[in-house]
Parts: sequence; structure tokens; C-alpha cells
Amino acid sequence: MPLFDPRPKSNRRDLYDREIELSLLAKGFRECSPLILLLGLRRTGKTSLLQVSLNETNLPNVIVNCRVFEEKNSITYYEFLEVFTRSLSKLLKRARGLSDLLSKVKGIKVAGFQLELDTSRKERPTITSILETINEWAMNQGLCVIIGFDEAQELAKLRGIRILPVLAYVYDHLKNISMVFTGSQIGMLYRFLKLHDPNAPLYGRVALEIRLNKFSYDQSIDFLEKGFLEYGIRAPRTILEHAVSVLDGIPGWLTMFGYYALTKGVTTRVVDEVLEKAMEMVLQEYKNYLRIRPIAAKRYTLILRAVAENHNSWSSIKRYLEVIEGKKISDYVFTQLLRNLVDAGFLEKKNNIYQIPDPILKQLLLKHKHI
Ligand code: ADP
Ligand code: MG
Repeated sequence: MPLFDPRPKSNRRDLYDREIELSLLAKGFRECSPLILLLGLRRTGKTSLLQVSLNETNLPNVIVNCRVFEEKNSITYYEFLEVFTRSLSKLLKRARGLSDLLSKVKGIKVAGFQLELDTSRKERPTITSILETINEWAMNQGLCVIIGFDEAQELAKLRGIRILPVLAYVYDHLKNISMVFTGSQIGMLYRFLKLHDPNAPLYGRVALEIRLNKFSYDQSIDFLEKGFLEYGIRAPRTILEHAVSVLDGIPGWLTMFGYYALTKGVTTRVVDEVLEKAMEMVLQEYKNYLRIRPIAAKRYTLILRAVAENHNSWSSIKRYLEVIEGKKISDYVFTQLLRNLVDAGFLEKKNNIYQIPDPILKQLLLKHKHI
């Protein structure tokens, strides 16, 4: 499979660069690091990186896809358990003897290679008992089991269970389990984990943090060139430069451009088409974000639009908002709103300058005044 395959990659040969990040992850796996954080904006390749490195290790592993909770306001314990146990089923095929152990956990049944919740019982299994069982099995095998939670910030929506004490327990006592959390909304993930909050269960725990950045300008051009060369296409440099100026170094957008250009031709028109498609996707994602936060929705959009129109400092964005609303807004409330947008990854703050890291979101705000 080629560089321009639009799905998350699973093979190193389809992954452009990321050598350093791959070796950091591999090291984390070898040492069975209790907590690994894989952070980066949307579409920088977190899922790909995780899949590729899991593919290269021979340690048993699963990925729990928390993206399925993205559109929800909250997650019940039962909903989480269903997703969790279904994901764990993937372990059973490779882990001999594990299903016998797991079938002894109260509230769980094993049917073939499927791990299911036993609904005939009132009792729900506890996550801790499931993880303890996996750890026991791993210990007997002398192995480390890797459990990835993709887009883990979604777990902050869990209700009816305090998940942080569970994670802290796994961190401290289940030495044969390594947890990997990926997160697009980096601030949200940190707010959820509370690693720096003295009153929180995970306080003071050290995480191995791996950050995925956008491709540099040169990498972006090189990525596109290499991708087209896989098909014997020598793409005109000017068009590639145009594509990178519009799509920036975001691997997902560049991949999408490559994918469409392969069938439609390497033209500026395809760059525009990809931009349109990308804007639709980002609009949908942004609307999902607003839908769960209806009260501040209007203000979030005004703030982002201000930044898109190059009002980049705290005070100039605030003035913009106040002029449009025709009234003052308290410093506290305003700072809070900005922080939320930064934590969700829609804004970036560097040296007190605010910027929109995704060029597509920026274009969307500039072009479509009705959001
Ligand atoms: P994330 O999980 O961070 O949102 P994904 O792993 O889903 O990102 O990647 C988004 C898109 O970009 C996918 O189409 C994937 O194939 C592609 N992609 C990301 N990083 C790379 C890379 N280093 N090389 C090739 N393709 C990549
Ligand atoms: Mg992903």
C-alpha cells in the first residue's frame, strides 16, 4: 500500500519519516512504559504511528477506538464497557489461555474469540478486574500487553465510574500492561488525566510523551514527490508548492491531495477541490464541538474568526469580540474561552500570539461567514 493511501497506515514502508517517533514508541513498548502519550493535531498521523509500531512489535496489543464517542455528550459505564470488551476480543486470538482466565471474571463471557458482557447477570464487570486478569496472564507469559486508547480525551466524558483511580492502579500495580493514549485535543487530554493536580489519582506519574508535528515545508514537498513517484508521476513543482501553501504540512490533507490527484491529475483545480472537501470535514468536526457546547458556541466562532482575520493577541481578540457584541466581557470569562479553544486544538498559543494551526479551519472561517 502506498504513501497516498487515505486510511491510517499500518506498515512502516507506507509511513513517511517519523523515524524518531517510531523508535521512541518502540523503546516505550520494550520497557513496558506504564503510560505513553502520543500527541498531535488531528491528521498528523497518530493512529498511523500507533498502528505501525504495534505492527512491528510482537507484543500482544489492542487499540480501543475512543473516537466512537466523539459525538456524545457523555458516555455511560455500560457503553464504555461494550467498546472496551469488544476491542479486547482482538487479544484472544493471539493470547493462548487468556480467554479461560477472562471467562472467570464476573460479568464477562467468552464466546469463541469474542469477549462479551454477560447481560444475564446484574453484575457489571469492573475494568480493574479485567485488567488485573490480563496483567496476570501477561506476567505468566513474561510479556507486556499494550493497550492503546485512540483519542483518549473522549474518556473524560465517562459517567458513573471514576476512571482515574483505575488508571492510577494500573500504572502503579499492573506492571505488565503498557497504556498508550493518543490525543488530538492535547489540552483536553491533560485536563482529563490531571497528571499535575496534587489532589488527583495520577498526580506525579511520569508519562512518556511523544509529539507529532506537522511536516516541514521541505518534508511536505518531498512527501508529495515521493508519493507521486510511486506511480511514476513526476509532479510539477509549482503545483506541489501551491498544494503545500494551501494545505500546509498536515499529513492527512497532503495525503488526501495525493490520493485525488492520482486519479484526477496533478492540477491546481484538484488542490481547490481538496480544499473544499477538507473544509466540509472540518466544518462537521467543528460543529460537533459546538453542539456539545451550545452556550458559548457563537463566541467561539467569533474568537476563531478574529484570529483568522489576524487579530492575534489576547487584547485584540477581546476587543474584536466586544465590538461585535456591543458589550464588555469579563477578563476571566474571555480567558476561559480562549483556553478552551487552545485545549481543543482549534487555537495555538505561542509567545502570547494566538494562531489557528489548521489552515483548513482558517480558510473556512474566512470564506464562510455563516458558521
Ligand atoms: P491522526 O490519527 O493523527 O488523526 P492518521 O493516522 O489518521 O492521523 O492520519 C491521517 C491521514 O494522513 C491518513 O490518511 C494517513 O494515511 C496519513 N498520514 C499521516 N501521517 C502519515 C505519514 N507519516 N506518512 C504517510 N501518510 C500519513
Ligand atoms: Mg487518529
